[in-house]
Amino acid sequence: MHPHSRRLLVMKFGGTSVGDAAAVQHVLDIVREARAAWSAVVVVASALSGVTETLLSQAYKVAQGDDSEVETTLQYLRERHQQLLTAFVSDQKMQQAVMGEIDQLLQRLASLWQAIAVLGEASPRALDAVAGMGERMSVRILAAALKASGIQAEAIDATDIIVTDNQFQSAHPDIAATQAKVDDFLRPRLMNGVVPVVTGYIGATPEGIPTTLGRGGSDYSAAILAAALQADEVWIWTDVNGVMTADPRLIPEAQTIPRLTYREVAELAYFGAKVLHPKTIRPIIEAGIRLRVLNTFNPSHPGSEIVGDEPTILDGVIKAVTAVRHQRLITVEGRGMLGVPGVAARTFTAVARTGTSVPLISQASSEQSICFAVPADTADKIVAALEQEFAQEIKRRDIDRVWASDEVVILTVVGSGMQHTPGVAGRVFGALGAKGINVIAIAQGSSEVSISLVVKAEDLKLGLLALHELIKI
Ligand code: ADP
Ligand code: ASP
Ligand code: MG
Repeated sequence: MHPHSRRLLVMKFGGTSVGDAAAVQHVLDIVREARAAWSAVVVVASALSGVTETLLSQAYKVAQGDDSEVETTLQYLRERHQQLLTAFVSDQKMQQAVMGEIDQLLQRLASLWQAIAVLGEASPRALDAVAGMGERMSVRILAAALKASGIQAEAIDATDIIVTDNQFQSAHPDIAATQAKVDDFLRPRLMNGVVPVVTGYIGATPEGIPTTLGRGGSDYSAAILAAALQADEVWIWTDVNGVMTADPRLIPEAQTIPRLTYREVAELAYFGAKVLHPKTIRPIIEAGIRLRVLNTFNPSHPGSEIVGDEPTILDGVIKAVTAVRHQRLITVEGRGMLGVPGVAARTFTAVARTGTSVPLISQASSEQSICFAVPADTADKIVAALEQEFAQEIKRRDIDRVWASDEVVILTVVGSGMQHTPGVAGRVFGALGAKGINVIAIAQGSSEVSISLVVKAEDLKLGLLALHELIKI
C-alpha cells in the first residue's frame, strides 16, 4: 500500500448514474480512478433510472386486477439490462452467466406480481420484495462491466449484509447485526482487493425476508455501510453538481453550495431537497465520516462537501431554499381547548396511529388552535381520526372543528449562519410580501438553521424565486 494512500471510500451511484451506457462509462472511469487512490473502495448502486417506479406501479396495477402489461414490462426490463450489459461485456460466456441471473430475478418478479394479482392486494412486504429487484439487477450489470474493464468486482445483495426490522417500505437497520455481517462478508473481500458492488435501498430481516429502507434509500445504504466499515469518506454520485441553492429543476439559476454543515444538509433533505435521503446524515455524523456530493456526468466539478457543525457565518446567511409540495394544513381549533388537558399529545398520538409523519407544526399565538402539515392525500383520513379522538370534546364544544386546508407547499430557507443573524425572518417575510405572497403559517426549525413558511400551492414557483434571490453564495 502506498504510504499516502487514503483508506476506505464508499461511493454511491444513483439511478441516473447507472441509467444508460454513457453514464456507466463515467462510473467505470470514476471507480478506476478511486481504486488507484484508495486502499479499498465499496460501490453502492441504485436501480437503473425509472426501474423502481416501473416495478412498483406494475405491482399496484396487478393488485387492481390489470395484468395486461406484465409481459411487456418484463420484456422491457430484460432488454434494458441486456443492452447495458452488452455495451460493456463482449465475452459471450460472461454475458450468458449474467443474463442467466437477470432472468432468474425476472422470473421471481413475475411470480411476485402473480401472487399479488391472485391476492388482489399488494402488501408492504410484497411491495418490498418487488421493489428490491431493480437494485439486484443493476449491481449484477455494473459488477460485470467493472470486471470486463479489468477491475476486480463482485455483485452483492445487501439482503446478505444489511439487517433490518420488519417495518416494510421504511425499515430500520439493526446496526450491531449489520456490523457483524459486514465484518464477515464484506471485509474479507476488501482485503482481497475486490470492489464490492452492493445493492442500495434494500436489506432483510433476521429471518431473511427482504425489506427496503424507503424510496431514495440508496444514500442511506451507503451511509450504513460506511459507518459499519468505519470508512473515511462517502461520495454520493448523482446527476447534478452537488447540493445546490435550490432544486435546479425548479430554479435553473441554482448554484452549487461548496460547503454545508451536516445540520444544514439534514434540514435540506428533510424539507424536500431530494438530493440526499434525510436518514443518511445521522450515521455519517456519528461516525465522523466525510461526505461529498458529486456529479457523475461532470466528475471534475468539486461538488459539495458536508462538514462538521460549526456555524460558518461568512458562508452566507441563507444558503438554500427547498419546497415540500402536496401538503395540506390540518387545524384543530376551539375556544375551549385551553382547558382540555393533553390536546397536543392526543392530537399527535392520533396522527401517529394513522402512520403519517408530520413535517411541520406551526405555533399559534393563542392556545386556541393546533396547526400542522401532512401529505395532502392523507388529510381526510387524519381529519377522521381526530374527529374520532376528540368526539367528546367536539360534542361539548370545547373543540369547534378539525379541518384541512386546500393544498399548500412548505418553503424552507436553510443556513446555519441564521442563528447569529438577527432579522432573517423579517427579510424572508419581506421577500414574499414584495411579491404579494401570503404566508399562511410559519415554523422555525429547532436547530435554528431553518425557517419554514407555508404558502398556497400556486405560490410555489414565485415564492421559491423570491427566497432564492436572498441567497448570496
Ligand atoms: P439519484 O438517483 O442520484 O439518487 P435523485 O433524483 O434522488 O438522484 O436526487 C438528485 C436530484 O435531486 C437532482 O436531479 C435534483 O433535481 C434534485 N434536487 C432537489 N433539490 C436539490 C438541491 N438543493 N440540490 C441539488 N439537487 C436537488
Ligand atoms: N431505487 C430506489 C428508489 O428509486 C432507491 C434509490 O434510488 O435511492 O427509490
Ligand atoms: Mg436519490
